[in-house]
Amino acid sequence: MKNEDLLQIAKTYGDPVYVYDSEKIISQFNRLTKAFSSVKKLKLNYAAKALSNITILRLMNSLGSGLDTVSIQEVQLGLLAGFKPESIIFTPNGVSLEEIEAASKLGVRINIDNLSILEQFGSKHPKIPVCIRINPHVMAGGNSNISVGHIDSKFGISIHQIPHLLRIVELTKMNINGIHMHTGSDILDIDVFLYASEILFDTARNFKNLDFIDFGSGFKVPYKDGDIETNIEELGKKLSTRFNEFCKEYGKDLTLAFEPGKFLVSEAGVFLAKVNVVKQTTSTVFASVDSGFNHLIRPMLYGATHSIKNISNPEGRERYYSVVGYICETDTFASNKRINEITEGDILCFKNAGAYCFTMASNYNSRFRPPEVLWHKGKAILIRERETFDDLIRNQVDLKDLFTVKQIAKVK
Ligand SMILES: *Cc1c(COP(=O)(O)O)cnc(C)c1O
Repeated sequence: MKNEDLLQIAKTYGDPVYVYDSEKIISQFNRLTKAFSSVKKLKLNYAAKALSNITILRLMNSLGSGLDTVSIQEVQLGLLAGFKPESIIFTPNGVSLEEIEAASKLGVRINIDNLSILEQFGSKHPKIPVCIRINPHVMAGGNSNISVGHIDSKFGISIHQIPHLLRIVELTKMNINGIHMHTGSDILDIDVFLYASEILFDTARNFKNLDFIDFGSGFKVPYKDGDIETNIEELGKKLSTRFNEFCKEYGKDLTLAFEPGKFLVSEAGVFLAKVNVVKQTTSTVFASVDSGFNHLIRPMLYGATHSIKNISNPEGRERYYSVVGYICETDTFASNKRINEITEGDILCFKNAGAYCFTMASNYNSRFRPPEVLWHKGKAILIRERETFDDLIRNQVDLKDLFTVKQIAKVK
C-alpha cells in the first residue's frame, strides 16, 4: 500500500479509518506454513480475537486456516463466515459450563482449561472428545519477556495437577483428543519454547487417543525499527524435527496446531488519523489527531509502541512530536518521536494496526467506531461502515417520561 493509496482511502472513506492489506496476511500465512513444511499434518487456527471482521475471517477460511475462538459469539461469527464446525476450536478461559456445552452443540472442538469444568463436562458428555489446556510453567532465567506461563497465571491446567487430571479422565471415561498450551508471551528464545514443548510431549504420553498437539501462539512481530521478532524459520526447523520424532514414538501422525493472531494480521493493518491541532507548549509539540484510545488502546493499555508516519509530508524535515488523541483524559499514542514535519490536516499512519486495534475499540466519549477497508488486488474495499449516531443510541431505552424537566428543577 503506497502513501498515495492510503491518502486516497482517507479521502474516500473519511478519517479515522483502518486499512488492511490482504496480500500481507496471505504472505504471513504462507510463511508460517512453509516453516513447518516438514510436518505431515499442520493446522493453523487463526485467533479470531485479533481481528474479527467477517471478511477477514472469510479470507482466512479461503487460505485453509482453522479458527481459534474464545467466546460463543466468536464461534457463531466463524460459522457465519463459512468455517466448518470441525475447523473451529473453542479455547475459552473462565466461561460457564453452559457456554461450553452450547459451543459443543454447534459441533466445534472444545478446549478445557480447568479441572472443575473438565470434571463436569466429562461426567455429562463422556462421548464428546475434548482438548486440555496445560500450563507448563516454564520461566526463562529471570527475563519476564520470555517466560512461558507464570505459576500464578489464571490460564491452563498446571502440569503439577496432571495426576488429578488423569483421575478425572479415568473416572469419567472421557476422551482426550488434544493437548494445548498458549502462554501469551512473546517467543523470543526458541530454546525456551522448545523446553515448554517437551513438557507438552511428556503430558501427551499419558493419552492414547490424541489427534493433535496445539502449541498456541506467541509469535512476536516487529513493532518498531530494530525490534526483535520470533525467528519463525528456526522455530519451524527445530520444533518440526522434535514433533516428527515424537509422532514416531507415539505411533501416529498427529496434527501440529498453532493459533496465531498477531502474526497473521498485525503488520497487515494501518490506522489513518488526521491531525486536528498542532500545539506548541513550553516543552513539547503536541499533534492531536481525530482519534484516541477509544480506537487504538494498545499504547495506553500495554505501553505498546506503534510507529507513526506522516504520509502527507513524507519528505518533510523530521521534528520531535508527541502524538495524542482527543479523549478527555491522558491519551498518548507516542511521546517525543521524530516525525516528518506535521501541519494541521496531515494524515498520520499508525503501523501494526491489524491486531487488537479495531477489536478493542469502544464508543468512549460517545465517538463512532471507524470504518474498516480491505486493500485487495490493488483496490480499496469497504468491509465495515463507520458507525452513526443511531448506532450510539440503538440499545438505549430512552424513557422520555421518567424525568420531567420540572422535577429536575425542583430538586435543585
Ligand atoms: C489470544 C490468543 C491467541 C493469539 O495470540 P497472538 O499473540 O495474537 O498470536 C492464541 N490462542 C489463544 C488461546 C488466545 O487466547
